[in-house]
Amino acid sequence: MIFETHAHYDDEKFDKDREELLGSMKENGIEYIINCCAAVEDIEKTVQLMETYDFLYGAVGVHPDDAEKMSPQVLEKIEKLCGHPKTAAIGEIGLDYYWHKEAEVQNLQKTWFRKQMELARKEQLPFLVHSREAARDTLEIVREFMKAGMYGGIIHCFSYGKEIAREYLDMGLLLGIGGVVTFKNAKKLKEVVEYAPLEQLVLETDSPYLAPEPNRGKRNSSLNLPYVAEAIGEIKGITAQEVVKVTNKNAKKLFNIPN
Ligand SMILES: [Zn+2]
Repeated sequence: MIFETHAHYDDEKFDKDREELLGSMKENGIEYIINCCAAVEDIEKTVQLMETYDFLYGAVGVHPDDAEKMSPQVLEKIEKLCGHPKTAAIGEIGLDYYWHKEAEVQNLQKTWFRKQMELARKEQLPFLVHSREAARDTLEIVREFMKAGMYGGIIHCFSYGKEIAREYLDMGLLLGIGGVVTFKNAKKLKEVVEYAPLEQLVLETDSPYLAPEPNRGKRNSSLNLPYVAEAIGEIKGITAQEVVKVTNKNAKKLFNIPN
């Protein structure tokens, strides 16, 4: 069975058929789903989902896109939610310099990234990192926290090259691999997948975004994960079943969900 480590089923793109879609996961081989908070105003929606579906756990946190909306009150809310029995991680947190070029905003992102990493340590939870066009700063912050002790984490939708991958792998972190690995032009990511040990990869979709081939451009869902497993298997010269089995085990270990 597949472990989906990163989806956003609270997104409005699922408003019309969320129940039906999530209700069909188990019969389609999806065992567990981590739903990740992103926007400040949507945190409650993830809580609702994790309280409705037994197979769905939550990552609580605020995306770098919302750094300007962060406040000590929101951080306090996230901290309270860490005590929820279905909270499995802090996420998604990190840096996004693709959409945010202003130094002032980037500094705010760093501040709230650090504060949420501190929370992950304090609450003994793994962290889920979003990093886009911010390779050096993300690495610096993650390294700083890992040195002083953390409970593991995933670099989600990994988009950098082998050199950066090696840094994270050496720290014992996992790389989240999704639909991009099926794209013809994803040479850099395919190299990373070939290089990284299977024991340090996990499957993810980032639904509703980044649907894999042959559904590229459509709304994504965890039901597309077999295409991702297939692509990873092809690169590594193993079966998709082996990819599913090992990545499931990796995720359960990280999120502390018994087999
Ligand atoms: Zn995401």
